[in-house]
Amino acid sequence: MDIHEYQAKEILAGYGVPVPRGGLAYSPEQAAYRAREIGGNKWVVKAQVHTGGRGKAGGVKVCGNEHEVYDAADEMFGKRLVTHQTGPEGKIVYRVYVEGAVNILKEIYLGIVLDRKTERVMVVASASGGMEIEDIAASKPDTLIRSVVEPAVGMQAFQAREIAFGLGIPGEHVQKAVSLIMGCYKALESLDASMVEINPLVVTEEGVIALDAKMTFDDNALFRHPSVAELRDKSQEDSRETRAADRGLSYVGLTGNIGCIVNGAGLAMATMDMIKLAGGEPANFLDIGGGATPDRVAKAFRLVMSDDNVQAILVNIFAGINRCDWVAEGIVQALEKNPVHVPLVVRLAGTHVEEGRRILARSGLPIIRANTLAEAAERAVQAWKNDVSLKQPKAVA
Ligand code: GDP
Ligand code: MN
Repeated sequence: MDIHEYQAKEILAGYGVPVPRGGLAYSPEQAAYRAREIGGNKWVVKAQVHTGGRGKAGGVKVCGNEHEVYDAADEMFGKRLVTHQTGPEGKIVYRVYVEGAVNILKEIYLGIVLDRKTERVMVVASASGGMEIEDIAASKPDTLIRSVVEPAVGMQAFQAREIAFGLGIPGEHVQKAVSLIMGCYKALESLDASMVEINPLVVTEEGVIALDAKMTFDDNALFRHPSVAELRDKSQEDSRETRAADRGLSYVGLTGNIGCIVNGAGLAMATMDMIKLAGGEPANFLDIGGGATPDRVAKAFRLVMSDDNVQAILVNIFAGINRCDWVAEGIVQALEKNPVHVPLVVRLAGTHVEEGRRILARSGLPIIRANTLAEAAERAVQAWKNDVSLKQPKAVA
């Protein structure tokens, strides 16, 4: 789960990480009021959306008076901010954060992440802050500092000192940088975060300060941190995925045309692979879980069909504990209530498969049946291609 910058800053401040003075606003009036509250003569208005790269997309504005703050906020509210991370649909701005501006001497990149290769928490830092880490890794790989944390002892002060010196932090600010780095690590460890990213961490006349902050949390550990779980902002998530999670289905939206309804995560992955192998592109990953009851199947159909890109559906059920005849009943009931208007391929395997197939055949519904997964994938891709060619006008030579 991702959270907003202002939320991450509030959390990190609790771990001793210095952050600019700021206030959240839900309207331009409130933004101007926040600026007055903060004081000073320069502010930064920042769109609160779950994405990086806001600066380049018009989501970060430096302002010199309250009117500018008002206008900058007014411009951002309700806007779909499209960055290189959001995809073309962007993310809508419902909140802005107003901060007192900081005089930057130097911008640094600091990331604390889980490194799969070493199976450890790793600090990644670079003196080329302000750029995205991918760009730093590509264009200035020699500036990257990596430091692996031993889980048994946690991050040690000497490690943080090494990082600070490596980044060229001025001597008088090294101790402040050490406590900032240690604070970020403690926040990550205590709250089961999978990432803390400060980009940029800036050096000022007075010391060091986190000018931007991003935190990502391990969904499977959220039950241990109700105060973090509360920070969830559904307006920033893929609405299809949120709806699925609310219904106990595991769904990931993709960009292809063949909708998938499968029981079991492994089988769902295999189904997507087979669709690709057959020359198609899956529209989604969907694991409806073990108990494919009529109700769940119906919900799955509705979810998959809510994606306008879906032009064919492949249902792939392997019944172990479950029974194919029950699943088949579920499919028939779901389709009778909510007919789907795209080609539908169903492959059933496992317990009571014969009875399941009979039920599908008897229903009289236009279901394309398949016995093996390969066959199912091929038929789904074929059906999708035929359907598309029917819908699209023939090219005139
Ligand atoms: P991102 O583009 O979504 O990563 O948003 P950031 O919070 O990182 O802001 C983008 C850039 O805006 C930073 O790299 C800074 O260069 C600039 N910026 C943000 N806050 C301030 C500030 O207080 N003072 C100044 N001078 N620049 C700022
Ligand atoms: Mn940033």
